[in-house]
Amino acid sequence: MKEFEYYKPSTLNEASEILSKYKEEACIFNGGTDLIVRMRDEMTKPKVVVNIKEIEKLHEISYEKEKWISIGACVTLNELSKCKMISEKYKILTDAIHNIGSIQLRNLATMIGNICNASPLADSATPLLVLDAKAVIFGADGVRKVLVKEFIAGVRRTDLKIGEIVVAIEVPIYEKSIVGSFHKISRRKMVDLSTVCGTVAKVNGEIRIALGAVSPTPVRALRTEEYLKGKILEAEIIKGAEEKVVEDISPITDIRASKEYRIDMAKLIVKRGLMHLRDSELKWGEQSEA
Ligand SMILES: Cc1cc2nc3c(=O)[nH]c(=O)nc-3n(C[C@H](O)[C@H](O)[C@H](O)COP(=O)(O)OP(=O)(O)OC[C@H]3O[C@@H](n4cnc5c(N)ncnc54)[C@H](O)[C@@H]3O)c2cc1C
Repeated sequence: MKEFEYYKPSTLNEASEILSKYKEEACIFNGGTDLIVRMRDEMTKPKVVVNIKEIEKLHEISYEKEKWISIGACVTLNELSKCKMISEKYKILTDAIHNIGSIQLRNLATMIGNICNASPLADSATPLLVLDAKAVIFGADGVRKVLVKEFIAGVRRTDLKIGEIVVAIEVPIYEKSIVGSFHKISRRKMVDLSTVCGTVAKVNGEIRIALGAVSPTPVRALRTEEYLKGKILEAEIIKGAEEKVVEDISPITDIRASKEYRIDMAKLIVKRGLMHLRDSELKWGEQSEA
């Protein structure tokens, strides 16, 4: 690993000033589970590393009634999965988080690091996409908010400008509870990166689908969502959605899987996700009739 200067600021202003001063040569260190691996392999060679974990307010999970839940940048994945408010409101998100690495890794890793790393296969991205979550960004010009869908701009590319820090992810609070499921297809059952992942959920009465590792960034399957509008989830419609999703994705062949396998797995995730929605609705329907 190359030598670097190390800073541990205790305020956002201080952190932003250091990042602005050293520009592309500086790098934020959060849980470090992506960054340290990349630095060790010399895929990233920052001259300056800025540890943001001393900034107290980045460790908070806060709540604005009927508006949003805000997850601070340094909240670890284990802290997040223990938060009752999150698991009750957004089970799809906690399910995705449980699928990231091991319990030891989740003690260090953060959801914001997972998003800022901007990998096409980031497991927390697809639930955040269907939930229309926003990245809250602090910089010299103040605070701005960007949909996670737009924040992840390409492979390992984000919308962040020099000196900016993601301080939180804001997830809207929806009137109706969210029914849905997260799916991960990987070579091993545990502690493995996704070959394909995805979330299928009903949000505000509409079916939303997002897929990871099938395009340069995690994507919403908007054509499939449009096809499903107003339709009852019968076997024939689910089959149609499986075919439609091919138009929403552009997978490649790499060390993990072939393009053809990824297409098949994306179809399988859509099928399983829609069947889960249909079965949940039947269950709730039966209960309300009883
Ligand atoms: C053994 C192992 C298993 C893994 N398994 C999975 C898996 O199953 N699924 C998965 O999706 N990932 C997996 N990962 C990748 C990684 O653990 C996750 O992406 C993790 O959530 C990253 O969070 P972090 O806090 O450690 O990020 P860091 O490594 O600290 O940062 C990642 C990147 O984001 C930037 N960054 C961090 N915080 C901010 C911020 N607040 N503002 C701006 N930029 C920021 C950093 O500069 C860096 O470029 C695995 C990694 C390892 C080593």
